[in-house]
This record gives sequence, C-alpha cells and structure tokens, in this order.
Amino acid sequence: MSTAPATAPAPERPLPIPTRESQPHWDGMREGRFMLQHCSGCGKVRHYPRPVCPHCFSMESAFKEAPTGGAIHTWTVCHHPFNFFFKAAAPYIVALVDMDAGVRVNAQLRGISEADLKIGKRVRLGFEPVNKEVTLPFFVSD
Ligand SMILES: [Zn+2]
Repeated sequence: MSTAPATAPAPERPLPIPTRESQPHWDGMREGRFMLQHCSGCGKVRHYPRPVCPHCFSMESAFKEAPTGGAIHTWTVCHHPFNFFFKAAAPYIVALVDMDAGVRVNAQLRGISEADLKIGKRVRLGFEPVNKEVTLPFFVSD
C-alpha cells in the first residue's frame, strides 16, 4: 500500500470575470488604456461599470479613454493577504487612488517604499498582462 504525498494545490491567482458591462474596461486594460464607462443620459462616469446609471437611471452608456494619473487617497500594507496566492508577495501595498478622471481605483502600488508614501502623492496606472485575456492595473510613482 502506498500513500500519495500530501501536497496542497498551488493557490490560483484570483482574476476578474468580465461581464457584458465591464468587458470594454478589461479590453482597454489589455490594450494599455484606462477605459471608463460614461452615462449617455447625464454624462457622469460610472465606475465600476454597471448596467444602470446611479444618478439618472439611464441604461445607455459609452466607454471613453481616461487619463492614467491620480493622487493617493489612502493605502494599506498587506501583511496577511486574504488569498494564499498573494502570501509570497507580502508585505505589499494596496493604494486607493483619486484618479484625475474623477473616480477612485484601488490596486497594488509598486516601486515605492512605505516611508515615501503620502496622501496626495502623484501616481499613475500601469498595466500588467496576466494571461491572453486579462491585464490587471497597478500603480507606480508618477
Ligand atoms: Zn446618468
């Protein structure tokens, strides 16, 4: 009788599952473009992408390319990731950024030490291809 070695499967990276509404946003990421959904009824940005405008209830929208710059609103240093995939990268920084386009985006912040972080520090969005379909955002110092 033999026993199989007890090996846990490697944790998988959690990835977004694009919806009909968010597909143009993720297509833009793949092309290195920050695409935001704009309401065709009132003109306001809808982020995250969704079918109905929270301001005027219009279901019409169009995607437009937005600038990739922004300023740090806040951040956290992750020492104990919620997902085992990220354990090897810990500690890492996740920033919530006020984008120049008027929306907030959170993503990993790279290449900046914790000592250099400041609220209001300028950062810009970068694009990390993960596979053929998915490219994820991250922030770097501007
Ligand atoms: Zn609207």
